[in-house]
Amino acid sequence: MLEDSLEILKKINLAGYEAYLVGGFVRDYLLGIKSNDIDICTNAKPKELVQIFSHAKIPKEDYGAVTLYYQNVRYEITTFRKDVKYKDFRRPEKVIYVDSLQEDLIRRDFTINTLCMDKDKNIIDVFHGREDLDHKLIRTVGDSYHKFSEDALRILRAVRFAAKLHFSLDPEVIQAIKDTKHLLRKISYERKREELDKVFTCNHNQYGIKLLLSLGLDKDLELSHLGDINYTDSLIGIWAVLNSSLYPFTNNEKKLISSIQDALKQDNLDPYQLYLNGLYVNSVAASIKGISQLDVAEQYAKLAIHKRSDLAITAEDILKIFDQPAGPFLKEIYEKLEKDVLYHRVVNDHYALVKYCMDYYH
Ligand code: ATP
Ligand code: MG
Repeated sequence: MLEDSLEILKKINLAGYEAYLVGGFVRDYLLGIKSNDIDICTNAKPKELVQIFSHAKIPKEDYGAVTLYYQNVRYEITTFRKDVKYKDFRRPEKVIYVDSLQEDLIRRDFTINTLCMDKDKNIIDVFHGREDLDHKLIRTVGDSYHKFSEDALRILRAVRFAAKLHFSLDPEVIQAIKDTKHLLRKISYERKREELDKVFTCNHNQYGIKLLLSLGLDKDLELSHLGDINYTDSLIGIWAVLNSSLYPFTNNEKKLISSIQDALKQDNLDPYQLYLNGLYVNSVAASIKGISQLDVAEQYAKLAIHKRSDLAITAEDILKIFDQPAGPFLKEIYEKLEKDVLYHRVVNDHYALVKYCMDYYH
């Protein structure tokens, strides 16, 4: 992947422009972490890039970037620029191209995200990003208060990188976050959720959550249950505990969240509960409560039935025994049979179930 990206840099260089790998990829490369997306910065304009790479795409909103897929890897190539005027405390209103790499790097958030690599693998480190990598420190490029006031999403990015890399926040960053955190309220829940999801799913998510709490961000994020999260690596489980109606979820996520919330109130080793809400939902609930997920899996495997069709009796059999046409009573009988089989009040055997129904009927 690195060699492919250096090839891209060489192609841009050959056309007479500067180009560097920048941001997360270089940071993670120096830390020995694998990265999935690669950012490149260059003084070539999008139109010029499309001439160099005929299959490169200019996104609809032209923020001075093109997207290129090369050997199945996504490259975001951004023209050197400075951002002017922030709209909604989030997106730059317009982009002005600049000539020098240094000027482009000044607009970036953290020193560790300004590290660049040229086509010969030389590291360009204008803002002492390497030193901060060595000291495991999240520091802003320039004044922290200004950076966070300009774009409050950077507050969550600071916590996200600290959590992902297990780094500390520089004292100036901590103070500036405390002074600007109210601006988080101006950012869309969708954007906040994206960053929070990254905090909740990274290796050191507990540390990330602690940071959010110690900075007092729970209030401005409107997450009053943030302090209730116990160890779980389930993202949807965390959102179930957070119980927020403000953040956006898909219908599937909403269903899952409400099943997990229900399972949290139940005994997750109970056979009927395991049968109703299933293994996944109960495992997530168990992980939140600190109950062994292995026990849950074992109990689940031992269930007498896992679905209605596992019952050794059919709807036809039941209708015949009760001598009635299909109706709501069938659902009632089914639920009783499921419960009684699961609690071992009757064995899941055809004749046993027929007899059980007959006794119940008479
Ligand atoms: P990763 O891709 O691992 O999540 P990254 O550092 O590459 O982390 P991206 O969101 O891909 O983060 O952004 C690429 C680079 O663009 C960053 O490293 C940073 O230099 C710059 N950047 C991104 N978002 C911002 C922002 N809100 N403010 C300032 N600079 C930013
Ligand atoms: Mg990136």
